[in-house]
Amino acid sequence: MSIFLVDLREAIGNGLTVQPIANMVNHETNELFFDNLELPLDSLIGEEGKGFRYILDGLNAERTLIAAECIGDGRWFIEKASAYARDRVVFGRPIGQNQGVQFPIAEAHVEVEAADLMRWRACDEYDSGENAGASANMAKYLAAKASWEAANACLQTHGGFGFACEYDVERKFRETRLYQVAPISTNLILSYVAEHLLELPRSF
Ligand SMILES: Cc1cc2nc3c(=O)[nH]c(=O)nc-3n(C[C@H](O)[C@H](O)[C@H](O)COP(=O)(O)OP(=O)(O)OC[C@H]3O[C@@H](n4cnc5c(N)ncnc54)[C@H](O)[C@@H]3O)c2cc1C
Repeated sequence: MSIFLVDLREAIGNGLTVQPIANMVNHETNELFFDNLELPLDSLIGEEGKGFRYILDGLNAERTLIAAECIGDGRWFIEKASAYARDRVVFGRPIGQNQGVQFPIAEAHVEVEAADLMRWRACDEYDSGENAGASANMAKYLAAKASWEAANACLQTHGGFGFACEYDVERKFRETRLYQVAPISTNLILSYVAEHLLELPRSF
């Protein structure tokens, strides 16, 4: 496999077709169809045949970056949920005084902060040129899970207003759900851990 830099202004209509995919998150997503696309020789990136290595190296950085994004999402949900739980009064007291409301938010906070530690481990390994594959995958797994749990706690804390667009919770809820699937799905991370860290037989 080799990778190329493609000038979209020249390629679209000359071998490349771009088909937008309408989707549930605020994310520009397209299907690309390549059909006899011709490229100039100097569009090759690096050395021929080494494309997969280059992509793999970038994937660890991407997973760490997505972990950071999820941690940001998680903190946003936790702050938003805590603020609402302090202010919203039902039956004469703030809803946040009830452990049934507090505990899911507190649990999400614990998990987001734990994911953050793994995120920094992945950053340190990547920056020092070590193989960051295990930490990057685990950071992405933990952060995606933590942000999704924080999203659930936040939506639940807001009750009916969790569904109202003006609070932004429903929008962020949809957005953070993406990270269970992309850029690598949770199952495929578990599969990586099983095979590469625990030396279990490859499952596919
Ligand atoms: C909004 C959005 C933006 C995206 N942006 C990009 C982008 O910029 N660049 C890019 O390259 N891709 C992008 N993607 C694609 C994304 O990386 C893939 O959708 C994702 O990796 C899952 O692959 P798939 O859709 O082919 O699912 P599939 O491989 O078809 O998997 C479907 C389901 O089956 C499970 N599954 C599959 N195989 C196994 C197995 N062996 N064991 C257990 N479970 C399995 C998966 O976990 C998943 O839940 C984007 C996707 C979305 C939704």
